[in-house]
Amino acid sequence: MTQEITYPKRFRFSEIQKKWTEYWRKEKINNFELKDGKDIFTIDTPPPFVSGTLHLGHILNHSWIDFVARYNKMKGRNVYFPQGFDCHGLPVELAVEKNYGISKHDREKFLAKCVEWVNNNIDNMTKQFDEMGYSTDWNYTYRTMNDDYKYKVQWSLLYFYKKRWLYREKFPTHFCVNCETSVAKAEVGYQDEIGKLWYLKLPIVGGENENVTIATTRPEYIEACVGVFFHPNDDRYYHLSAAEVEIPLTGRTVRIRTDRNVDMNFGTGIVYCCTYGDEMDIKWKLEYGLDEIQIFTEDGHMNENSKYKGMTILEAREKIVEDLDKMGLISDIKDYEHRIVIHTERSSCRKPIEFLPVYQWFINVKDFTQEIIESGEAMNWYPEKHKQRLIDWCEGLDWNWVISRQRVFGTPIPFWYCLDCGEIIPPREEDLPLDPVTMQSPKKQCPKCKSSKIEGEKDVCDCWIDSSITPLAIAKWLEDEDFFDKTYTKANVHRPQGYEIIRTWLFYTLFRCKKLTGKAPFSEILINGMVAGNDTRKMSKSFGNVVSPDEVMPEFGADSLRQWAALGTLGDDYPFEYTWINIQSKQPVSNDFIKKEKERLTENKFNNKYKRRFEQLIGASRFLTKVWNAYRFLFFNSSKIQLSNLKIKPDELSYIDNHVYSEYNNVLKEVSEALNGYRWHNAFVSLKNFFWNEMCDNYIEAIKYKFYSDESLQAEVALKNILNIFYKVLSIFAIVMPFITEEIHDLLFKKFTKLKSIHLEKFPKEYKNLNDTKIMQGKFILESIKNLRNIKSKRGIPLNQEINKIILITQENLDLIDEEVLNDIKNTIRIKELFISDKMDVKQAKKENISEEPIEEMGIVAYIFE
Ligand SMILES: [Zn+2]
Ligand SMILES: [Zn+2]
Repeated sequence: MTQEITYPKRFRFSEIQKKWTEYWRKEKINNFELKDGKDIFTIDTPPPFVSGTLHLGHILNHSWIDFVARYNKMKGRNVYFPQGFDCHGLPVELAVEKNYGISKHDREKFLAKCVEWVNNNIDNMTKQFDEMGYSTDWNYTYRTMNDDYKYKVQWSLLYFYKKRWLYREKFPTHFCVNCETSVAKAEVGYQDEIGKLWYLKLPIVGGENENVTIATTRPEYIEACVGVFFHPNDDRYYHLSAAEVEIPLTGRTVRIRTDRNVDMNFGTGIVYCCTYGDEMDIKWKLEYGLDEIQIFTEDGHMNENSKYKGMTILEAREKIVEDLDKMGLISDIKDYEHRIVIHTERSSCRKPIEFLPVYQWFINVKDFTQEIIESGEAMNWYPEKHKQRLIDWCEGLDWNWVISRQRVFGTPIPFWYCLDCGEIIPPREEDLPLDPVTMQSPKKQCPKCKSSKIEGEKDVCDCWIDSSITPLAIAKWLEDEDFFDKTYTKANVHRPQGYEIIRTWLFYTLFRCKKLTGKAPFSEILINGMVAGNDTRKMSKSFGNVVSPDEVMPEFGADSLRQWAALGTLGDDYPFEYTWINIQSKQPVSNDFIKKEKERLTENKFNNKYKRRFEQLIGASRFLTKVWNAYRFLFFNSSKIQLSNLKIKPDELSYIDNHVYSEYNNVLKEVSEALNGYRWHNAFVSLKNFFWNEMCDNYIEAIKYKFYSDESLQAEVALKNILNIFYKVLSIFAIVMPFITEEIHDLLFKKFTKLKSIHLEKFPKEYKNLNDTKIMQGKFILESIKNLRNIKSKRGIPLNQEINKIILITQENLDLIDEEVLNDIKNTIRIKELFISDKMDVKQAKKENISEEPIEEMGIVAYIFE
């Protein structure tokens, strides 16, 4: 029977990706069903911020999440895998202001535009998720800006208020005068800076031209000075213990005090306390009941308490130094390297942080850090080493969580307050979600002082307030009790995330979910690192080392990019490697050279001259070609031999089948262990090596001859066996490479598996009923073939050229050798006569007329008679 065989020569991923993405959606392959609720595995995926595009960090993080989902599905768990979006945040406001020129003071129009912008961005990101073969169930997606989500957030705040864990207070908080908002401790970081240390003379009251000299990095704070301190053991200043100094430019005097927190080795050993230069100033102000003088505005200028009103902070610094100098009050200026606090989290801001006393909303976390540690201890950590980050953060925390942000696009803080006495007026539960700016307070009068000056809160929530209830939101908390019970309370909940948000997203989620439900949210956590550029630094626009997925996806496809992700190591940073090359000469060029060329050339000219070569992805595509070629070989042969099923009886297994299946069992064990610990790298490398070396290079080569033989039964059994093992390996590869495996399943296996998709397949089991002797015999055959092929090529004999006779000398168990062994070797290597013996005696050598030296390869000695 002849048949026209058509099959694609190359793996055309772009068509295939599109086809399968649509098919999976249409056939509901990724859909979640609650069923009886047994063994539910919930994944609390990180909602990406809606920047409009996924970056490679997302690809790494979300590929891993997809591996987790697919693997657990294969293991028979009912995997609940939703994906939402984190909508609120400063970058949205900035984008709307910049791109549409709408001011945030035009509130209604501004908010509508923010929503529109976010929705567009989500559309694009959803498309990107689909393109990477992400198996989330989009029916369960969420957007933190939607009313159903806001309801839960506001309900939780009302609950915290009733428990007295939420309060409003005027307090000096970290404040970014650049972004004009307060920020949480977790949003600030440090930067080393070479600054100056100014030595300022403060006249002693009643002294005759007597001064004390303080050293400071912030002379512009002088008008806010409310105290001067030295260490009680510092004998240099003992006589000043009760003196007063005059604060220049202000006409005020302040007392000198002693305090053990002063560093005697800093500057002169005397420092001033200003409200508020740093955290120490806040402590001293509270401890000694000092005055509070606020000299900065929220947008970074000097206010009416300063003679320098209207100047920026930096302008004021220069002018103050100049004025003090004129007054003869600057005794020295030194260069000084120190750490400044800057705005680091989620923003390209990186401007210095000030402390400003403003009314803020706080949540008490300080009293609950021990509980958070307990929730953290109760989870399985992959890898374990990152647990300490959480514990250290909890133990070092001495601030409550400031949750109010002086922004517009965010979840409104649903409270009103009395302008006269500060009393808080909470919303009615049935009115949630609401915006207190546009809605009337439920009480016309202050319940405490009867004032009618009631104001709705204008501030909105910190984004972490939104995202720290994701495990509850996806479980339909406050919405569907049964669903919540099955996907949260009784489920195994898995949290995947980067290590850089342990002190924010993880910390806040552990805290809030436990407080709101009484149950800690997670049974396990999987931590990924950051993606680094080719200069080993974290990928970032400011370093110019960013690669966008859109840049590589069209050339390499999702299955390649996902292989790159699979090779990352748990919890560690992971590079995305590339080399700049000159397009014409194809020669690599250095990063430094590229930097200069970028400055020199226009973007167009640069792009015509240089491009990046992505070695990791090139390797990954080669592997796809290897898989595709194996498929083509099998497809070609299965179209000649009609199989009705793939069932095999144990006695139908050949020696080499036995051996390869036993190797498969070993690798399956290794792969399973690695996958159970989410060690993708180890799992993928083991399986890939097995596939490439054992299966393609040895096994397929050794059974090829059977397909050309006249014995159709032999060919049929061989084909069944190779299809079986190929399919098992393929089904595991489907975790990492969902497209190529689905395509091959469709072309080759669907008629046997009767499954709509390879992604509904169970995780393969090991082969039973293997025969130990046959395993050894198979091993001997494959080893001999491998060595004889090497010998052939060393002698320059074409692999397909027939050889008259080979005598093999080996120390292996000779009783392993029988007809099947000889046949397999003879037919694969193409030998007319093959003898295997443990030694070559002189007599036989003479008889055979052997004059040549034998060729030795890995313990096997062969005499070859061409
Ligand atoms: Zn900022
Ligand atoms: Zn009142």
